[in-house]
Amino acid sequence: MSMFEHIQRVPGDAILGLIEAFKNDPRSRKIDLGVGVYRDDKGDTPILPTVKDAERYLVEHETTKSYIGSHGAADYGDLVLSLVFGADSEVLAQQRASLTQSPGGTGALRLAADFLRTNLSPRRIWISDPTWPNHIGIFSAAGIEIKRYPYVDDQNHFVFDLMLEALRQIPEGDIVLLHACCHNPTGYDLSREQWQAVLEVLRERRLLPLIDMAYQGFGHGLDEDAYGVRLLADNLDAMIITFSCSKNFGIYNERTGAFILVAGNKEEMLNIRSQAAITARENYSNPPAHGASVVSHVLGNDALRQQWVSEVTEMRQRIRSLREQLVNALDAHGLRERFSCVLEQNGMFSYLGLSPEQVDYLRDEYGIYMVRSGRASMAGLRSEQVEDMAAALADAVK
Ligand code: PMP
Repeated sequence: MSMFEHIQRVPGDAILGLIEAFKNDPRSRKIDLGVGVYRDDKGDTPILPTVKDAERYLVEHETTKSYIGSHGAADYGDLVLSLVFGADSEVLAQQRASLTQSPGGTGALRLAADFLRTNLSPRRIWISDPTWPNHIGIFSAAGIEIKRYPYVDDQNHFVFDLMLEALRQIPEGDIVLLHACCHNPTGYDLSREQWQAVLEVLRERRLLPLIDMAYQGFGHGLDEDAYGVRLLADNLDAMIITFSCSKNFGIYNERTGAFILVAGNKEEMLNIRSQAAITARENYSNPPAHGASVVSHVLGNDALRQQWVSEVTEMRQRIRSLREQLVNALDAHGLRERFSCVLEQNGMFSYLGLSPEQVDYLRDEYGIYMVRSGRASMAGLRSEQVEDMAAALADAVK
């Protein structure tokens, strides 16, 4: 009898199943709105020209593949910190922020979870309902209790008042996970006034914010999308940020992210930074270097940086334009009001307010694939498919 005999098979990731089903669908007019990667109007996920430039440079000039240390490369750390907080940030001037390079945003979240469990013995983390499903997986795996606060209602409206009311009830010392921008899966983000209200509750209740920032630049702009992060960091003496370069640099498979800690002062920052190094060492020792070298090369070179800002702008504007095209096409079916949410939402995803049965119907009848929550990855749509998509949606909700 094998030692593994008792281990049960579990269902695979729903999104991977969706990718497989889409690939095997013979219909030529099929549409893939499942997976969360950016696509251009040809349906490709290209390598950004600035990333290609940086890679050519690295092939030519890189001299070693030696370890880079548990915090990763220092120049990457400095450049990403100023991208997140802004070059003239007080927090950076006061040396209150520490960055540990991580394997993607997911790796940063796992570092955050392990760091919290080891150093704060936290009781609970409060996460929006709904959220990116892996938030639940990562924090449960690290042994932290998961609690939820409301984010959308049955009618697919952002329920900020209920969210704030729930935050007010959270016991002192608990952790609150917030999405910096482009909330996954709903696309609903906090306004400036709403960030201010959240800040006040965090301060009053002495809660520790953990902000997941996976889409900087995909909402309204690089600085605009950092508004909440910067407001909280300027006004609080403890917070955590998990950052991902996967989307805004299009380097999904290079696993490039950052675990950022903000403390009350430099001394405290150096203390917690030393703990972050141990957390990283005990997980994987050193982060992968290539993606971070690419990011440093692009951000550290004025011309390339400017070009990258235009590339991010182009990705953001394409998604924004698809949202407008789709709602205009739905107008012809008398559905502008029903789908006005699409224009309110930001970033890659749109929560369409569809039932699982309607999602199944779209797949079976029209070859339109999305996760059963009704989250559509807007960048999966090509302009030429917008009319078909609107007609299919009109049929599904009739
Ligand atoms: N947080 C959120 C909200 C995400 O949507 C994602 C990616 N889907 C991540 C974190 C993780 O990103 P990465 O691929 O860099 O691990």
